[in-house]
Amino acid sequence: MVLDCSINDFNEAKQVIVGGVNSPVRAFSSVGGTPPFIHHAKGVHLYDEDGNRYIDFVQSWGPLLFGHCDSEIEEAIIEATKKGTSYGAPTIAETQLAKLIISMVDGVDKLRFVNSGTEATMSAIRLARAYTKKDDIIKFEGCYHGHSDSLLVAAGSGLATFGNPSSPGIPLSVSKNTLVARYNDIESVKQCFEKSTNIAAIIIEPIAGNMGLVPAQGEFLNAIQKLCDEKGALLIIDEVMSGFRASQSGSQAFYGIQGDIITFGKVIGGGMPVGAFGGRKEIMKLLSPEGAVYQAGTLSGNPIAMAAGITALRKIERDPRLYERLETLANRLMDGFKEAAAQCEITLQTVVRGSMFGFFFSDVPVKNFDDAQNANKELFAKFHYGCLKKGIYLACSPFEAGFICTAMNEEHIDMTINIASEVFKEITYG
Ligand SMILES: *Cc1c(COP(=O)(O)O)cnc(C)c1O
Repeated sequence: MVLDCSINDFNEAKQVIVGGVNSPVRAFSSVGGTPPFIHHAKGVHLYDEDGNRYIDFVQSWGPLLFGHCDSEIEEAIIEATKKGTSYGAPTIAETQLAKLIISMVDGVDKLRFVNSGTEATMSAIRLARAYTKKDDIIKFEGCYHGHSDSLLVAAGSGLATFGNPSSPGIPLSVSKNTLVARYNDIESVKQCFEKSTNIAAIIIEPIAGNMGLVPAQGEFLNAIQKLCDEKGALLIIDEVMSGFRASQSGSQAFYGIQGDIITFGKVIGGGMPVGAFGGRKEIMKLLSPEGAVYQAGTLSGNPIAMAAGITALRKIERDPRLYERLETLANRLMDGFKEAAAQCEITLQTVVRGSMFGFFFSDVPVKNFDDAQNANKELFAKFHYGCLKKGIYLACSPFEAGFICTAMNEEHIDMTINIASEVFKEITYG
């Protein structure tokens, strides 16, 4: 694999864009090396500026359920573009996409569109605080909900304490309203409720995809829901990644839980920037202009983005076996990786949820952020580079999920397994 053009492109980008990227993970910091600069993509493949071709298991970090340049989505975008790119006025496309989401996901009576997952969770929290008239929130270590101030918070001195900023620039006066609990550990959540009687909401990724793929245990989510009911706190289910990825109705379907506010992003935009948050009528009606909670966006509900989202969700709606097929491919991939690793005496922990997959170089199952951090990062970096060199594009960090798209078939999966097997052998035997 030659990356000469990408190396030049990266150096040039770094002159004018901080770190050469517009979202930090893209810089390949956790695996080293140069990120391929993408020239174009089609179906399962990415093509970089050097002409290398990769099978893409990142799919823009989740949004592209149907792969690159799906013909129906492409056509919807082109048609919408001809009618104008933005009006800042209502369109029926917004109602159509809202109806699709509401019909497919339980617990959403009404919603509002924003431009990113970050905006969705940030607005959900404001709404929860207004509804409960309380200030504190609980989040889980290792869950990512975008980069708004109250959510970029790490555990303070030990878990179940008031948080510390996980980034400079966030005032303690903000982070102290966020308590941090341990994923899959209900005791740590109870401790948060002991520390604070002022808890507005718990926000959680029910299938965590931002510490690697780490699903919550069902009894844990049920216990959280019960605690919220007892204490008068809202449950915010962050489905920005898992929504329309894990199943047609997101992860609530896996667990039989019901969020008070649910946040969306990624897949609902069909590859365009769309986020949304929704929930029960009596909560949503607090939002301006019906209520007093302010929230707005110049490009929110953008007609091109809505057209892409509508097309994606209609494709999902008319294909009831979609997630089953994607899950079969994901299982085939993970079983293949696991077996190939085992032949080199490497133990992999693998997880699949619908079209999402994840693997850890760890001898023990990964249930929380500590476990995820204890997995072997050096081995991951070597594996990542080995695969990249041979045309397999995996997420460039051990703390990210992988994604199957409908453009993939068994051949793509088996080719990937064969390459993974070669890479495991190279790593082990040199
Ligand atoms: C990606 C993600 C976000 C943030 O969405 P952006 O569109 O990147 O702002 C929030 N929550 C979860 C669970 C995510 O995976």
